[in-house]
Amino acid sequence: MDRITPEARSANMKAVRRKDTAPEMIVRRLLYVTGYRYRLHIKKLPGSPDIVFVGRKKAIFVHGCFWHGHECRAGRRPQSRQEYWLPKIARNQERDAAAIRQLHRMGWNTLVVWQCETNAPNRITLETKLRDFLGAASTTAKISP
Ligand SMILES: [Zn+2]
Repeated sequence: MDRITPEARSANMKAVRRKDTAPEMIVRRLLYVTGYRYRLHIKKLPGSPDIVFVGRKKAIFVHGCFWHGHECRAGRRPQSRQEYWLPKIARNQERDAAAIRQLHRMGWNTLVVWQCETNAPNRITLETKLRDFLGAASTTAKISP
């Protein structure tokens, strides 16, 4: 069982605040080995998506379960200082939803990858999810006989 101690949680929260988080690196590596090429953190797009496929107009957000309020074990709301955490998490969720709405209006497709989906046992499922979202990798599509 991976019970999260308060210390681990606060270390976790600090870690997910950084730009190149471990879950994001896992997704990037997965995309790279499967032949997808992408750009990172395009600030001019709503929500500054973490991984962007400009030609395909597809954007991926990699969200930390705690900060973005995922309905999973890692996303459980803290029992202490709720008056501090809950509004922060709610604000993040509102911002996330607004960015996705705007991107859709601009004709973009979006995918949210949750931190818990990048855990080792879930990576096969994640790879399928990424392939379904992106379609064939351009490198294979370009190979001519
Ligand atoms: Zn989660």
